[in-house]
Amino acid sequence: MAKQTTDIIEKSLHNLLNDPNFLPELKDDARDKAIHSLITILSTPNHIHKSYLRIARENGVIERIPAFRMQHNDTLGPYKGGIRFHESVNEAEVINLAALMTLKNALHEVPFGGGKGGVAINPREYSTKELYQICTKYVQYFNEILGPDKDIPAPDVGTSAREMDWMMSEYKSIHYGKPYLGSFTGKSVLNGGSLGRKEATGKGVYFTLRYLLHDYLQENHQQLAQSQTQQAAVALGCQNRPITLAVQGFGNVGSVTATEAYHCQYINNTIVAVSDRNVTLYNPDGLDVPALAKYAAANRGDLPFTKEQNVEAGIRAEILDREAVLYLDVDVLILAALEDQIRVDNVERVKSPIIVEGANAPIAGEADDTLAAKGTLVIPDILANAGGVIVSYFEWLQGRETQYYSESEVFEQLHCKMGKTMNKVYPLYFSSNKSLRQACFDHAIMRISTILYAQGKLF
Ligand code: NAD
Repeated sequence: MAKQTTDIIEKSLHNLLNDPNFLPELKDDARDKAIHSLITILSTPNHIHKSYLRIARENGVIERIPAFRMQHNDTLGPYKGGIRFHESVNEAEVINLAALMTLKNALHEVPFGGGKGGVAINPREYSTKELYQICTKYVQYFNEILGPDKDIPAPDVGTSAREMDWMMSEYKSIHYGKPYLGSFTGKSVLNGGSLGRKEATGKGVYFTLRYLLHDYLQENHQQLAQSQTQQAAVALGCQNRPITLAVQGFGNVGSVTATEAYHCQYINNTIVAVSDRNVTLYNPDGLDVPALAKYAAANRGDLPFTKEQNVEAGIRAEILDREAVLYLDVDVLILAALEDQIRVDNVERVKSPIIVEGANAPIAGEADDTLAAKGTLVIPDILANAGGVIVSYFEWLQGRETQYYSESEVFEQLHCKMGKTMNKVYPLYFSSNKSLRQACFDHAIMRISTILYAQGKLF
């Protein structure tokens, strides 16, 4: 598991050791032992499942592709987490992502544990027929450990509703006559998916920012204005002035987050920059986000990156290199591309007082410490990008009941669930010297630990 994750888990447990509200029944030596046991339990996955999928390529060559399913912890319910198709997939990365799922679900009180899957391929290099074969083989190899009450995968980087539909269908054939709708989430609506699942992560990402600035900080203005810490963020929430935003990544998460910000009626947002794998587009007067989304949808997800393409898209923007988005002088930076974008070697160049992690782990551990020391407010991944798993939970419930919610019901329930979490962790952050990430981890780990203790599993 990544050192960053184990370090922060250990820090949370040491915070809890000194918290009188944490398992007051445990005293002295028993308390020390429980903390030690919890570090062991949470720093290691329950199960590591690994295989090599045997695939016959269309050119007649046989390939054996590394594939994983990691089951980190199931204290709160069946394992839950996406399946990633990416060439960089490896055992350590998938374990780390599974651990983050355990904590994300605990934080938002979603009744699932944490799992994650991965297949080490670049999906762009495989034909549709070959990808279908990979998906069905994945289910055949891991079918015994998957299922609606065991472990429920979803899409992740490189997979989508199409792959979930194929996988669910394979699961259904293998487990003929058994419930299957809840075996995979993120399916197409036609195949039992939930309305709003595709937009859920991006909507949730923007909602954490809007709720902070518009609802929480404005409502708590009087108390918070007296606090010496987190001054820049507090001021931003309370001044009620136009806010500038830059968004890194314009895929499923980034484009929906930018669109939400563009249409938001509560805050006067100006989206001055967006970026993707090719380019940063910058306009201090604001970008036409719907026009960019339309262009990207028609061009394999890519933003326009030449002057001619900008004209074609109807966009006025300066064309900068793709990393430039990170260093602009903006109020809010939203990271919605990949991991490790802000690191020790570039953190000093980052100027925004608020950063939102739409992607998983886009800020490396030591850089995170530097940002916390500067007073930058980071809305962490386990808080900000949970919209996908929350709506996956709604999908799982709808599949059980075979009753489906309207899109507006889905978003209303999503906001309600994320709002409840924020009402717990924002006060923790603003009343302490902890980072918001630490406050989220503390809250999630308190919940898992208390339940483990109640189940008699902590000695
Ligand atoms: P995506 O593949 O749809 O989009 C990724 C975007 O990042 C694309 O615009 C791509 O061009 C851009 N990009 C790639 N390399 C880049 C680089 N080096 N610099 C700048 N931009 C680059 O993926 P997504 O579904 O939007 O996921 C983005 C992140 O959010 C991932 O870390 C993913 O794990 C995380 N996440 C996604 C969901 C979800 O529901 N989609 C849920 C939780 C977390």
